[in-house]
Amino acid sequence: MKIGIIGAGLGGLLAGVALQKKGFDVVIFERLSQPGGRFTNYECKGFQLSTGALHMIPHGENGPLGRMLKSLDADVEIIPSKPEGYFRINGEDYLFTELKSLLSLPDRIRTSLIFTLLKFSRGGKESYREWLENKINNPLVFQIADSFCGWSLSLSASDVSSRELISIAKNIYRRGGPGIPLGGCGGVTNALVQEFENLGGRIRYKETVKGIITESREAKGIIASEKHQYDIIISNIGPKATIRLCDKGCFDELYIKKIEGIREAAGIKISIACEKPMLGHSGVLFTPQAKRIDGLNEVTNVDPSLAPEGKHLLMSHQSLKPGKNIKEEVRLAKEDLRNLFPDFDSVCKILAVQVYRGGWPVNRAPSGVYVDPVSPLRGLYYVGDAIKPEGWMETDGVAAGALEVLRAIEDQW
Ligand SMILES: Cc1cc2nc3c(=O)[nH]c(=O)nc-3n(C[C@H](O)[C@H](O)[C@H](O)COP(=O)(O)OP(=O)(O)OC[C@H]3O[C@@H](n4cnc5c(N)ncnc54)[C@H](O)[C@@H]3O)c2cc1C
Repeated sequence: MKIGIIGAGLGGLLAGVALQKKGFDVVIFERLSQPGGRFTNYECKGFQLSTGALHMIPHGENGPLGRMLKSLDADVEIIPSKPEGYFRINGEDYLFTELKSLLSLPDRIRTSLIFTLLKFSRGGKESYREWLENKINNPLVFQIADSFCGWSLSLSASDVSSRELISIAKNIYRRGGPGIPLGGCGGVTNALVQEFENLGGRIRYKETVKGIITESREAKGIIASEKHQYDIIISNIGPKATIRLCDKGCFDELYIKKIEGIREAAGIKISIACEKPMLGHSGVLFTPQAKRIDGLNEVTNVDPSLAPEGKHLLMSHQSLKPGKNIKEEVRLAKEDLRNLFPDFDSVCKILAVQVYRGGWPVNRAPSGVYVDPVSPLRGLYYVGDAIKPEGWMETDGVAAGALEVLRAIEDQW
């Protein structure tokens, strides 16, 4: 059975390897000359910067991605971040469990209840911020919530439902915090490409898919530089771009409205060359009191090969709300960097400021917005970060969504 995959991003590669392993004949079409999409490396002055992600996997080797890579025999080593994260408050760094010491006794009691609810309740449609406001009125708690959501989801606590956030918290309790793949993002996608090609799969680079051939509500093939017939088509370019490749009339109005209405999660990443370790650990430094930056990591504490010898790679991330002035957002972020690190100008140099939105966002659908990976067209499926099952963030969401597609294909074919 022949399968055509549109896009060699993480989702396309995971699905490609898994299906090729099951004996399908898989071809991936990629418009660029390299694989990996927003999850690979590029070189800049001897540093391994990334096309998107911060060289981190949300649940390390214990999440859906870590486990899937293992089951696919992809040669990737993921090192757990230690500590998982610190929060910088008034110039001091606190572990999550130490944050209570900053609160009054009544607020400590309230946060104990909040932690219990994060483990055992289900949440609802109201935003996480509203959910918190019903339990506590403490600006620091709201800032901490915003920095976690900004770093992890590129959203504020007002943009994500309490249900999604509580599901995420439960997955953190169960599967643990982040990990760093050796070789960074490129270490993961290159291992997948190698496994895919070893199994006989083919990737056609510089082949932009311009259309999906359909017949009576069934996907039959794709149009790239030539026409190709497939039994199954999997799109890794997001549902919005995918439905635009199909003839008008393939989908009903309601479905088109739902898909076209999805707003991406946008963000800004700053990659910084450092003469010395600025964090000195492999976890996240959340920055709740910064003006714009939500957090930073320094992956060279785990994998020094991501920087020239003796140097470090520090990366900051901030969410970007629609309509914001980019220049101003970047100016404020640079101010944050100087406030967080008083010696910033003497030991650090900004390598790249990257803005992620539109066709190259942080997430094609924000966490908490669920799109069925099985499209209404028979034979057409979606993978990628618009297809994150409840509670799974970022690339762990991509892997969890890809597993759903594999199950659906097994059931239907
Ligand atoms: C700043 C930033 C920080 C992030 N940090 C993290 C992090 O630390 N940890 C984490 O887990 N996740 C992180 N993410 C998210 C993560 O990078 C994405 O979720 C993930 O890479 C998305 O993969 P995807 O499968 O959706 O494919 P994509 O990366 O979107 O790949 C799609 C591919 O399809 C190709 N394509 C598009 N159109 C066509 C066409 N018409 N024909 C052929 N090919 C086409 C593209 O070129 C691309 O290669 C971050 C993202 C950003 C931007």
